[in-house]
Amino acid sequence: MTTSILHATLKENFGFEKFRPNQEDIINCILAGYDTLAIMPTGGGKSICFQLPALILPGITIVISPLIALMKDQVDSLKANGVAACFINSSQTEDERQFYIENLKSNIIKLVYIAPESLSYLDNIFNSLTISLIAIDEAHCISSWGHDFRPAYTNLGYLKKRFPSTPILALTATADKATRKDISDQLNLVNPKTFLASFDRKNLSLEVRPALDRVKQIIDFIKEKPNESGIIYCLSRKTTEELAEKLEKIGINAKAYHAGLDNKIRSKTQDEFINDDCQVVCATIAFGMGIDKSNVRWVIHYNLPKNIEGYYQEIGRAGRDGLPSETVLFESYGDVIQLQKFASQGLNAEVQLAKLERMRQYADALSCRRKILLSYFGELVTENCGNCDICKNPPAFFDGTIIAQKALSAIIRLKENESLPVIVDFLRGSKNAYIFEKEYHNLKTYAVGSDISWHDWNQYIIQLINQGICEIAFHQQNKIRLTALAAEVLFEGEKVQLTTVQKINIDKSEIQEV
Ligand code: ADP
Ligand code: ZN
Repeated sequence: MTTSILHATLKENFGFEKFRPNQEDIINCILAGYDTLAIMPTGGGKSICFQLPALILPGITIVISPLIALMKDQVDSLKANGVAACFINSSQTEDERQFYIENLKSNIIKLVYIAPESLSYLDNIFNSLTISLIAIDEAHCISSWGHDFRPAYTNLGYLKKRFPSTPILALTATADKATRKDISDQLNLVNPKTFLASFDRKNLSLEVRPALDRVKQIIDFIKEKPNESGIIYCLSRKTTEELAEKLEKIGINAKAYHAGLDNKIRSKTQDEFINDDCQVVCATIAFGMGIDKSNVRWVIHYNLPKNIEGYYQEIGRAGRDGLPSETVLFESYGDVIQLQKFASQGLNAEVQLAKLERMRQYADALSCRRKILLSYFGELVTENCGNCDICKNPPAFFDGTIIAQKALSAIIRLKENESLPVIVDFLRGSKNAYIFEKEYHNLKTYAVGSDISWHDWNQYIIQLINQGICEIAFHQQNKIRLTALAAEVLFEGEKVQLTTVQKINIDKSEIQEV
């Protein structure tokens, strides 16, 4: 497709002057008929990637989305732009659904949004439709490895079998490699072209604070910016209500939002927030999926999130307009305990626990937080960001290159096949049964680090992971592997900065606070 036609369509139907990173490539890929996997951060502009081809392709584009509450808004805004679109979901009456199905049959609709549970309504008419594209939004919902598994998504694999020559576009903001592969496998995508947009959102400042007196900290924070709106994410419904009440009491315009509230109240709160009639929403993670408010100036996490994917998606709701926006995460030991309990009772407990541990390490980090986030999503950067609390207030570093080299050599000797505790035991020359059983005591590098305590080794290796020099393979028993940066440290003279370990003080009283 010539560039000029795509640009003209972008301008004419959506009013945008130019494409955001990857949008044009993704669209070209779809138009060439390939299965495509698009990974973009929240606010990156995923919708255009299927809406624009839908206008150009001859037949119908089916958009599968879990967000029933948002379908109407999206369809309304498409219609306002002159695009023939409709949605089909369980919120409609049978008559309404039949009306749209007739419209689809007569080929006047270009885009149909449908919830996965409602796909069966199309089964009978599939044969009479020309389907040009199937877009699967929030595609990570298919994977129980992701953070938002929806059982209704697991059936979607039949689509490729039913329509083998129709391109499928899977879209997600979840970039973790294993989830990506799981999405592609379960959807039966054929050699999908994968596009991974940069996850860097430079305008978001990153900060972690200890959770002591967090209500007071939050009040002070909000009072400093009386005209700026923000979201406070809480773990429990009860906390959202209690916190909103506390803020209201001192005159801050705050509302609670969670899935347990009446639909009407929820959409009212959402509307008020979008229209700047409500300054602060205290919400569970139910709030925000797809909320298109560009001037959210700050996001606070009252509790530790379950994992980095969720955290990044939630802070990503701030500053979509590109202007500087603040994020604050409160870290509490009590939350860690609570979340560990949840994770160990849920699906894929081992993976979820490891992801939680990674989240906790992020909160405890002593190196640039943005580097940690980006390396988590597979982007290796060497520059510090200058816009996180660690960059602004760095701890004292020392040259830890030799320590790093020892650790990396140990990981190589252990064939990238062991988890963090075993690596530390190996470095320290531990004489435990596992080491002997595996005959690790006969390998080179065994005990090269016996002068450093177990705790310090553990912390140093976490710092290396945080700096993107090695990584944790969550889906393979948390084995530690090297990244491309490791070779630079081992062979190319790249220096590593480490910092002496600060133990975070834990106030025991705070454990009951959750
Ligand atoms: P996502 O689904 O990835 O979270 P959206 O598709 O909702 O993101 O897009 C986020 C915002 O960016 C929307 O307000 C959208 O109108 C805007 N947007 C998307 N593409 C462009 C573009 N090429 N130029 C300017 N704004 C864009
Ligand atoms: Zn930084």
